Amino acid sequence: MRIVVIGAVAAGTSAAAKARRNDDEAQIVIYEKDQDISYSGCGLPYYIGGKIQSLESLTPRDPAFFKKKYDIDVKVGQEVLSVDTENRTLQVRDLSTGNVYGDTYDKLVLATGAAPFVPPVEGIGQGHVFFLRNVQNARDIRSHLLERKPSHGVIAGTGFIGLEMLENLLEMGLSVSVVEVADQVMPGLDRDVSAYLEKQLEKRGVRVRKSKSIARIEEREVVLDDGSRLPAELVLMATGVRPNTALAQAMGLELGTTGAIRVDKGMHTSREDVYACGDCVETYSAITGKPAYRPLGSTANKTGRIAGDVLTGGDMEYRGNLGTGIFKCLDLAIGSTGLTEREALGEGYDVEVVHNIKPDKPEYFHGEEMLIKAVADRKSKRLLGVQVIGTTGVDKRLDVFATLITYGATVDQLFHLDLAYAPPFSTTKDPVHYTGMILE
Ligand code: FAD
Repeated sequence: MRIVVIGAVAAGTSAAAKARRNDDEAQIVIYEKDQDISYSGCGLPYYIGGKIQSLESLTPRDPAFFKKKYDIDVKVGQEVLSVDTENRTLQVRDLSTGNVYGDTYDKLVLATGAAPFVPPVEGIGQGHVFFLRNVQNARDIRSHLLERKPSHGVIAGTGFIGLEMLENLLEMGLSVSVVEVADQVMPGLDRDVSAYLEKQLEKRGVRVRKSKSIARIEEREVVLDDGSRLPAELVLMATGVRPNTALAQAMGLELGTTGAIRVDKGMHTSREDVYACGDCVETYSAITGKPAYRPLGSTANKTGRIAGDVLTGGDMEYRGNLGTGIFKCLDLAIGSTGLTEREALGEGYDVEVVHNIKPDKPEYFHGEEMLIKAVADRKSKRLLGVQVIGTTGVDKRLDVFATLITYGATVDQLFHLDLAYAPPFSTTKDPVHYTGMILE
């Protein structure tokens, strides 16, 4: 059996490695158009900011590693141009020579990922305007910082990449302006949680220009849609991503309602023996069962592993996601899992909501304020979603909540959880317990 995978970052390499674990004999080839493979995109902001000194630590596995450990051929600098699903053939271009050649497959995996959304802004093609998606983007931004030594930066977008990069550009000594087209910081959060985050950012000297977009980018300035000007020798567009579906569409694969490739729980696409995984696929909400697009490394690794298992005869199935995510900005950690209040209302739930502000540890252990907003279904008492902002211990609470939601916990069960306690880590009644006590 010849297995061909397209894309060699998180999902593609997970699929190939799992396929090899299940099947010693298959030929496995991965085509990747870039030069960097199997890297941690999530670590790139910290390389740019200088916290991670070596880019190699984010890209520990090269094609030789995959050959030696898994007998997988990773072919970099090779772009798959087209796939003929009738004849199970593909056309590939060697980007170093321009040569186009053919290959065949028995099972095909699309792990083509996502690409940054490029808004139609005048001047966006200039050398000091960046997107951050891959290792080469990170190299380019870091080189620009070290060689040009910009003093001012503008970041467009307050999603997790924009806010992670805010921290890292500040770390590099830039004065940074942040612009957000929506009327709230981090549009994915509930408005009240977003307002709390905005206040926390302001306390740390960061002002976000909301309801503003970039109209034009000049050599040393950014012009906003209200005509105001911001100094910028570096501009980062963190304006979201879109699934890479051009190849899938040309192959006639069905897309879902979110615009990503439609797959079933075994990562089969609409064509026989063609699978897809990672940021190019549509997944679904574990709470509502409805289609969702969650371009996250955590999900990409999972869906990749499932594709690799199923195409080699395994029976793994994807079980949906909660959109759980966390990121750091300055000393703040911001996380969310499950439905926000806005989403729950949109789904028709009669919601019960609590805002619980408690220290994460006792005062004598320098406990610091943590906001937990929890949303539950009044009728069934099921916990639906939680948003958490604090400085320490946010990850622990978020993961406890994600686990509770996954297993359908009701609010009365929270108080009874036997959670770990010692003063350096939490309070005797943990913020998770308090959340349940208020909701009950
Ligand atoms: P991609 O990483 O997009 O890889 C797809 C690959 O396919 C690309 O290398 C592309 O060149 C290749 N390809 C596409 N088309 C072709 C073709 N026709 N021929 C050959 N090759 C092709 N996620 C988290 O869960 N937590 C985080 O903290 C987090 N932080 C992030 C921070 C940053 C700055 C970024 C950019 C992303 C972050 N993510 C995070 C998201 C995570 O990195 C992605 O979800 C993950 O990389 C998706 O993996 P993938 O393999 O599906 O797609």
